[in-house]
Amino acid sequence: MSRDYGSLHDPNAEYTMRNLSGETMGLTASRGPRDVEITDVQTAMVDGNFPWTLVRVYTDAGVAGTGEAYWGAGVPELIERMTPFLVGENPLDIDRLYEHLVQKMSGEGSVEGVTVTAISGIELALHDLAGKLLEIPAYQLLGGKYRDAVRVYCDCHTESEADPEACADEAERVVEDLGYDALKFDLDVPSGHEKDRANRHLRPGEIRHKTSIVEAVTERVRDRADVAFDCHWTFSGGSAKRLAAALEDYDVWWLEDPVPPENLDVQRQVTESTVTPIAAGENRYRVTEHRRLLEDGAVDIVAPDLPKVGGMRETRKIADVANQYYVPVAMHNVASPVGTMASAQVAAAIPNALAVEYHSYELGWWSDLVEGEVIEDGYIQVPEEPGLGVTLDMDTVADHLVDGEELFDEA
Ligand code: MG
Repeated sequence: MSRDYGSLHDPNAEYTMRNLSGETMGLTASRGPRDVEITDVQTAMVDGNFPWTLVRVYTDAGVAGTGEAYWGAGVPELIERMTPFLVGENPLDIDRLYEHLVQKMSGEGSVEGVTVTAISGIELALHDLAGKLLEIPAYQLLGGKYRDAVRVYCDCHTESEADPEACADEAERVVEDLGYDALKFDLDVPSGHEKDRANRHLRPGEIRHKTSIVEAVTERVRDRADVAFDCHWTFSGGSAKRLAAALEDYDVWWLEDPVPPENLDVQRQVTESTVTPIAAGENRYRVTEHRRLLEDGAVDIVAPDLPKVGGMRETRKIADVANQYYVPVAMHNVASPVGTMASAQVAAAIPNALAVEYHSYELGWWSDLVEGEVIEDGYIQVPEEPGLGVTLDMDTVADHLVDGEELFDEA
């Protein structure tokens, strides 16, 4: 039996059921929930600890989907530029619309960079929208779930970021008071031994200082938390190898971005040199770039940023490639609860999810942006509500709009 759907662009078309011989079975039906068109796309930028770019896709069914793009100059303008490519289209065709936008914007940077970020925000909103139209949670659109709760790791900061004991005290506080069993600290902090940071070479005193931070933190929360350390693409290949070797005694969860991102050979050489797990990926775009990281054996853990890398299905595709190499996925995340829940929905639906980052514990009102709690005791319970499973608190959105921004329309 086959179905003749007619033109995908004609939402009012009826389809005809045919048997294997191609004969009409005398059964016609309207498309039911497929009979819906995108009418508009709007953005609203919220002044969080980053400028969160919320994206809303509207339909003629009276249902809207809400997503989020990673922050970056030009993202709202790019979404406005792409809106005519979406109006009149069927929002349930998420994959086709994603490829449609990539194709339409191919001359304007849709291989990587801020255009992919803008497309990501739309793609998240389409998942929320499709889930609401079909009345299923977003993880179901991605193939169902492996887990009911997703582990969250807390990105930690102190005012004395170079003081090992201050870092250890903060680790203790976040574990005991906030309930996380997974943490991350910055390791590209000043030690007082630097002479010239531009040459990327770590002096012996700098290696000793970084090791002392790692030792203080991991010893303090030993057996209570896994701890990762982030270097933000700072060091030379040789220095990264020396640092990773010096940390081998402390069994860190992972060492993130020790070298600049452009040269895959150096990334691979560092990773191959050490048993300290090396993570990278947050500033790479789409499955293509992550595939190269994985094929080259350049990472032990891949760390895509979902509202930037291409969205939910793109992250699922990255996770699928990673799984071919037995590599886990730790999702980089600096998003509001909207983007964070999108990451959690994908993390629920892939086998190799390690954790999702939370980067806003100093903000105070992060969870007020949506109704209900998002993170509890270091985990996100995967919602069973349709779509992403979060509902914006429009009063909080309005209270924290970036100056000059307008609140988007109700659905
Ligand atoms: Mg990082």
